[in-house]
Amino acid sequence: MSVLEKLTSADAIALEDKYGAHNYHPLPVVLSRGEGVYVWDVEGKKYYDFLSAYSAVNQGHCHPKIVGAMINQAQTLTLTSRAFYNDKLGVYEEFITNYFGFDKVLPMNTGAEAVETALKISRKWAYEKKGIQENQAQIIVCEGNFHGRTTTIISFSNDENARKNFGPYTEGFIRIPYNDIDALEKALQSSNNIAGFLVEPIQGEAGVYTPAEDYLAKAKALCKANNVLFIADEVQTGIARTGSILAVCGNCTCEKACEKQATYVAPDILILGKALSGGAYPVSAVLANDEIMNVIKPGQHGSTFGGNPVAAAVAIAALEVINEENLSQNARRLGAIFREKIGEFVANSNIATLVRGKGLLNAIVINDTEESDTAWNICMKLAENGLLAKPTHGNIIRFAPPLVMNEEQLLNCISIIINTLKEFEK
Ligand SMILES: *Cc1c(COP(=O)(O)O)cnc(C)c1O
Repeated sequence: MSVLEKLTSADAIALEDKYGAHNYHPLPVVLSRGEGVYVWDVEGKKYYDFLSAYSAVNQGHCHPKIVGAMINQAQTLTLTSRAFYNDKLGVYEEFITNYFGFDKVLPMNTGAEAVETALKISRKWAYEKKGIQENQAQIIVCEGNFHGRTTTIISFSNDENARKNFGPYTEGFIRIPYNDIDALEKALQSSNNIAGFLVEPIQGEAGVYTPAEDYLAKAKALCKANNVLFIADEVQTGIARTGSILAVCGNCTCEKACEKQATYVAPDILILGKALSGGAYPVSAVLANDEIMNVIKPGQHGSTFGGNPVAAAVAIAALEVINEENLSQNARRLGAIFREKIGEFVANSNIATLVRGKGLLNAIVINDTEESDTAWNICMKLAENGLLAKPTHGNIIRFAPPLVMNEEQLLNCISIIINTLKEFEK
């Protein structure tokens, strides 16, 4: 078939099936266009996007300001590598460090790379600043974690599907239950070789597990008392998704992450990705203060594309959009409506047992086993009814629309979700 002919959904799926590695199991929907909260498939059917590319498209699909910044920069200079300076990187570095309240940033491309970067910085800090003996550093992680797909990161996953037959694994990790302060305290006391505690403020992939209100503050205090780095992976929760600029900001909706807020739990290392570019381009970042970041010297870490001028221009635009359009406040307000309305339905439902989340990162738990295909079938039906969502773990469906949604659209979506769930009532 000529590449100029228009593909049907069936054609596009057949091509991916034949020529692409089968490392994903997508819903059978083939998208060809997006704008704001909507995406369209190749047949022209319109959907509400309730995944937002795993929270990368917080600012909405093809945001004109972000796309404009990308086109502008792409026509001027795309890549120099870090062998030379470029005129955009420093401006971006000043902007993002101010925005999140850190001395320095290390720019990378994907979330997993940023997590790897944070782990390397933590280990180096442990040897050079904390005085841990070489090769002895341990990093505490949580059960149910998701931090990406590299060999080191899957080494400390407890998802067998993500891990099995990819060994031998990277050593130096201690896994404790999530949202369990006593377990953290015990792990911290178990050894003098702990470099850091790596944690998601809300566990997204695991099924949107929201910890106790004071979990992060207590964890941070314990880390501080033990001279251990508190490393927040906000790749999914950050950039306004949970109703504040970072999930560690707690109940603050101000425009910058800052220590002045009582509810702010300051990470020693902050990891960002996904919506840092509004989904336009792979941009990730690791932020820390000088006493930590300065352990990295020339030649010790890097990336050919990390900090390129397109990424810099796109990320500045993406962060400006968050403030210009009050997306934290919108996520907070709409999220409360979502949980209230779905909660009312869940109270009298036997197909949905629970709705949970924060801001516009929410999940509905389906009343069936993890192995059942009920949640998948509900997502198929939701797609038919014009709304795209995906199960995370078997029986949990995540609902995370672009944060540019308005109330009328949200109410419309809530009725689609409730009417679809009703078709599955037992
Ligand atoms: C998606 C995600 C990552 C990995 O990001 P990639 O860009 O897919 O490598 C890391 N941590 C968290 C919490 C994520 O949600």
